Amino acid sequence: MELQGIGIGRGIAVGRIVRMPDPLPEPAVSPSSLTPAQEGARATGALSAVAADLLVRAEQAGGVAGEVLEAQSMMAADPSLVDDVTVRLATGVTAERAVFEAFAAFRDMLTQLGGYMAERAGDLDDVSQRVVARFSGVAAPGVPDPGYPFILVARDLAPADTASLNLGQVLGLITIDGGPTSHTAILAREKSLVALVGAAGAQSLADGDEVILDAANNLVMTSPSAKQVAEAHAREAARAARALAPVSPGALADGTPIPLLANLGSADGSAAAAALGAEGVGLFRTEFLFLDSVTAPTVAKQRVEYERMLRAFPGKKVVVRALDAGADKPLAFLNDAHEENPALGLRGLRALRASEQILRDQLDALAQADAATDAELWVMAPMVATVEETRYFVALAHEFGLKTAGVMVEIPSAALLADRILRHADFASIGTNDLTQYTLAADRMLGSVAAFQNPWSPAVLRLVAEVGAAGAALGKPVGVCGEAAADPLLAVVLVGLGATSLSMSASALADVRATLGDFTMQQALHLAELALAADDAASARELVTAQATEFLDSPSEPARVVPSNTHPERY
Ligand code: PEP
Ligand code: MG
Repeated sequence: MELQGIGIGRGIAVGRIVRMPDPLPEPAVSPSSLTPAQEGARATGALSAVAADLLVRAEQAGGVAGEVLEAQSMMAADPSLVDDVTVRLATGVTAERAVFEAFAAFRDMLTQLGGYMAERAGDLDDVSQRVVARFSGVAAPGVPDPGYPFILVARDLAPADTASLNLGQVLGLITIDGGPTSHTAILAREKSLVALVGAAGAQSLADGDEVILDAANNLVMTSPSAKQVAEAHAREAARAARALAPVSPGALADGTPIPLLANLGSADGSAAAAALGAEGVGLFRTEFLFLDSVTAPTVAKQRVEYERMLRAFPGKKVVVRALDAGADKPLAFLNDAHEENPALGLRGLRALRASEQILRDQLDALAQADAATDAELWVMAPMVATVEETRYFVALAHEFGLKTAGVMVEIPSAALLADRILRHADFASIGTNDLTQYTLAADRMLGSVAAFQNPWSPAVLRLVAEVGAAGAALGKPVGVCGEAAADPLLAVVLVGLGATSLSMSASALADVRATLGDFTMQQALHLAELALAADDAASARELVTAQATEFLDSPSEPARVVPSNTHPERY
């Protein structure tokens, strides 16, 4: 039997299931024998002990995990939460009950906000459980240790648990809830942990079940045959060997260079990305730095962050995206108005134009950081829909002395007008996550339409081809920085469609580098043509996989001649 979910990374793991233990029971609603002041002292004692514990873990973890734990520590120490607890204690309940209820109310508020905020609700539950455990004097619920390597199944994993997973024991992770942008997914990516999130069917898995967790194919295979297990081990070994291979610049088998870059949300991941062979940064998501800010960051504060990133890649290209606020990534200081359809609302460049000083400050900070460092800084605007927006952004960036200014192609209108847009922009970078969402009209955060969120869709690929053709005709670079670039075979197709560089989570670089090296440009063009001609995403992938296998099986066979009317003319 196969269970579906959303794979994080490209790995595969074979092992026995261990389920996360059930959460602690809800504290009883019984009157307290102590005074509200005495209960208040118990509550503040437990909250501050948990806050301090999380802070120590944050310091030990460092990186993105450290930031998540620090944010959790702040949740436990939040003065408005303490106020809420005090109000509840005045009704005569116990500290356990008051704390539990206050966290639950906080959680409901975040859930109603939706998007990124709703995904933080799980973090609050974890803090609440830690405080309740402290009252009862029991250990906080955590990852079990059965004494052998295992695949962990959890409803969702708390950031504190994900951050401290023992990678020698945990072969993989399956969560029943959670989406691709949940903290579990973010941290699993950072740790290169094989993971599948949003796998509702994993409810049925029991302790001891043997499974194959295949993140690349978005599934868990239960009761696998000996042959399937052997194949999975072979794939795992091949992947491990590739990861150990010396890193070299991205290139096709015929030597055509395809620079491989990293997607980063802060300079913290830069050393790891460079070690994995990132040839620079293809997407610096600057909004990730300021998700918790209620006021716009100052030029000085931004400059420090940008300089850190630029210094990490001396002499290399670093593509910085202007703040991309909206929908799943709200920034309180840019767009806090309620919108019925935020994905179609005042987001990306639209929100920046509505608060132009914020955009000007960001470009100012970038120009200052650029002058103080020697990386090759490129800047780009998110969510550009029109030629007019392109001209606006590029002119403004040039006004600040930023030499290379481009646009992200994430909206179908920008792809369809790429020949005109690229006359004004210095480069284009295709964001396949949003481009797929808008082309298929399928909210990228919504599990019920996840099947439409497939960048193998020939409609999406046709739009990519438009941009590739425009870039080739005008001699402008066309990068791809959406998750599609991290799928090794799709990466080859994207190159065949005209992508001149690819940017992805650093953990995907080794697989993509190895696969690009297996095919020539002529083969990539042929695979792109097959994908474009397919009826749907599944058959595009199937046809390309079959042809790619044939190419690999007969490497000496001369590459086929590709009809030139169906693929972008690159050379
Ligand atoms: C994209 O949309 O593909 C993209 C890279 O941007 P983000 O995922 O940050 O929206
Ligand atoms: Mg996007």
